[in-house]
Amino acid sequence: MVDTHNDFPSASIEKKVSLDADLLGKTHSDLGRLRAGGVDVQIFSIFCGPEQQHPYAFANREIDSVYEWAKRAPKRMTLVKTPFELRRANKEKRLAAMLGVEGGHMIEDKIDNLDNFYVRGVRYMTLTWNNSTSWATSAADETTKGDSLPHKGLTDLGKKIVERMNELGMLIDISHNGEQTFWDVIKLTKKPIIASHSCVWHFCHHRRNLKDDQIKAIAKNGGVIHLNFYAGFLDSTYERKAIDFTKRHKTEIDSMIAKGAQPDYAQIMMMEKYKDEVESFRPPLSLLIDHLDYIVKLVGVDYVGLGSDFDGIEAGPKELNGVQDFPLITKALLERGYSKKDIRKILGGNFLRVFRANQLGVN
Ligand SMILES: [Zn+2]
Repeated sequence: MVDTHNDFPSASIEKKVSLDADLLGKTHSDLGRLRAGGVDVQIFSIFCGPEQQHPYAFANREIDSVYEWAKRAPKRMTLVKTPFELRRANKEKRLAAMLGVEGGHMIEDKIDNLDNFYVRGVRYMTLTWNNSTSWATSAADETTKGDSLPHKGLTDLGKKIVERMNELGMLIDISHNGEQTFWDVIKLTKKPIIASHSCVWHFCHHRRNLKDDQIKAIAKNGGVIHLNFYAGFLDSTYERKAIDFTKRHKTEIDSMIAKGAQPDYAQIMMMEKYKDEVESFRPPLSLLIDHLDYIVKLVGVDYVGLGSDFDGIEAGPKELNGVQDFPLITKALLERGYSKKDIRKILGGNFLRVFRANQLGVN
């Protein structure tokens, strides 16, 4: 069972906690609950916002944290860099931890930094987060700034970076990317790509979600879309309700940001504090399965997986409160009539196929 996107490294900084502790009630994830939830492979998102002065150094410190967690609990977790190491960790019943850099700004426009990330174990990079880089435009910028952008899609440097990622065997993650960037990548890449944490536009017209022609293009490329559990990408009515919530608690949120919390995390922590209020507008798990079904019906079962975004989202479906709840997805898939063989593909087999394909020919 593979989850391609978990923001615990960022949450651990904000909340001053370590993965090997019991964090029930504090976070979506900890080592004990990853085991309880049957998670075999967890890709941790290495992330910092564009406001960080030295994003490359910051990212490296987050990578240090993941290494440190593995060092503290060597019997329960190990960092893996290859499909072979992943299999071995599975056999040893240790969590196979992997790294994904969420946002091309963290390489600070240097291919050397990309290479160093690869050496340290980073196996995917999301070309942009919400902020564009000098070489690729984000969904946020393409949809809000449009023609005022200095460039749209991949620049020459952007193309070099994509080619280098293909050479290295680092997966290209198009979550958060603008449509122009997406199509430039699809045209250029020689290896299958992923969306590490995105949903389906058909159900929820959010710029972070994928339109039908994008879903078809990913399938043609042999890639995989890993579904995000975020209520606001699943349910088109959620974000309006969340905005109303934020308005009601604005003073408290502003004071947390003034004390140094990252804005997204201030929001998340506020929603945790007023849980009952949030509970009333979380969507059902069946809606996540609807998104999954839609992709399967459009292009087949080989192109979908899970990228929870746990510890990076303030609310998912009502039934999913943390990594311990993944088995509820398996149950829901069985109830929808999915075969065990197809469920194995969805829960991880599809990701493994893309990981292997990217590592092919890499030494
Ligand atoms: Zn994200």
